[in-house]
Amino acid sequence: MNFKLTDEQRLIRKAARDFAAKELAPNAREWEETHTFSRKVFDRMGELDFTGLYVPEEYGGTAVGRLTAAVVFEELAKGCFATAVYVSVHNMVTNLIYQHGNPEQWERWVTPLASGKKLAAYSLTEADAGSDAAALSCRAVRTDGGYVVNGTKLYVTSGGVADVYAVMVRTDENQKAKGISTIVVEKGTPGLSYGPSEPKMGLNASPTTELIFNDCFVPAENLIGQEGQGFNIALGALNGGRINIGACSVGLAQQAFDYALTYAHKRQQFGRPIVSFQGLQFLFADLATRIEAARLMVYRAASLMDEGQPCVAEAAMGKLFATDMAMKVTTEAVQVLGGYGYMRSYPVEMYMRFAKIGQIFEGTNQIQRVVISRELIKYKGGKRPDLY
Ligand SMILES: Cc1cc2nc3c(=O)[nH]c(=O)nc-3n(C[C@H](O)[C@H](O)[C@H](O)COP(=O)(O)OP(=O)(O)OC[C@H]3O[C@@H](n4cnc5c(N)ncnc54)[C@H](O)[C@@H]3O)c2cc1C
Repeated sequence: MNFKLTDEQRLIRKAARDFAAKELAPNAREWEETHTFSRKVFDRMGELDFTGLYVPEEYGGTAVGRLTAAVVFEELAKGCFATAVYVSVHNMVTNLIYQHGNPEQWERWVTPLASGKKLAAYSLTEADAGSDAAALSCRAVRTDGGYVVNGTKLYVTSGGVADVYAVMVRTDENQKAKGISTIVVEKGTPGLSYGPSEPKMGLNASPTTELIFNDCFVPAENLIGQEGQGFNIALGALNGGRINIGACSVGLAQQAFDYALTYAHKRQQFGRPIVSFQGLQFLFADLATRIEAARLMVYRAASLMDEGQPCVAEAAMGKLFATDMAMKVTTEAVQVLGGYGYMRSYPVEMYMRFAKIGQIFEGTNQIQRVVISRELIKYKGGKRPDLY
């Protein structure tokens, strides 16, 4: 087992770290307060090759793989969690189309997405189909040359600002999961409109909207894979997406930790820096241990995926542990700053608000437990014989 990043991975990490420190971190608070999504930032991420991390060069990407991507998302999240999240979703969708699409679809969508010319979004959730996503009801009815789509999707990250939407729709009323298909709908398609960007607890630099389909005609060539495969395609994408959210949460937690530790060195009470109190030293020791454990879990799941090994449980464990860890670390960072931590003039309260969404999206942490336990009972004794 090798824990050392390659020279190439270290160079990519440096590029992501520098970009996050110089171009994301100084603006994150303003974007959050003003609910600003910056397309220029996405364009810059395209120039820096962060938009096609799983797709080969031939189709505009760099194909650096899951582990390197996890390192990139971790670094970006240190600068702006909301930006790291939406670019991770963009990469997830780009790869979904590459994995399940055909060569014409690669030319049409994967190349502009991977090179950062277009932005992608993922649309599974509906008002009555969240954790039970297979209950979705947005309908795509077969017609001459394509589908007519009607219904409303909920909580779409980059809704309204994305150019390409991977949308899970019902093509067969008589089946549940097997009646779902994945179609690509492009911005500007007649019959597609967006709800207003939802004001949220955090993550306001990343718009979250409804997608509203009103007799929206989508050509048959926009179907990804076969009819009825959409639910498996959607879940497969989320498997990798969970590694990404885990990675973003590690970066966020590290940023909160570093801020709190630096503060604890400077803040004086009882005539000495508060970092000299053992009560805080032990807290920092516990938090650093959790961050390290989460990072290793996320990197491990990413490495398994790079090797083409099964990693459904490991990805879910990484997401579960890393997002709970980020909630704990950011909450304690507020505590370390005391009253100042509660103020908007310091960043830690924002980190804490960011952390909460990690426990909810790409499958709530209760659903991660469902996924993990389902995988465990496949193996006698709960352990994968090839791994442990
Ligand atoms: C900011 C934001 C961005 C999002 N981005 C996207 C996106 O880009 N694309 C997209 O498709 N969706 C997106 N979502 C939707 C998100 O994935 C869902 O909100 C999430 O999956 C939970 O669904 P729900 O909100 O309907 O909660 P519910 O499913 O109603 O769950 C409510 C509670 O019940 C619990 N629960 C439900 N079922 C079980 C069970 N079987 N066992 C134990 N507990 C259970 C849940 O864990 C939760 O605590 C986003 C959401 C937010 C808030």
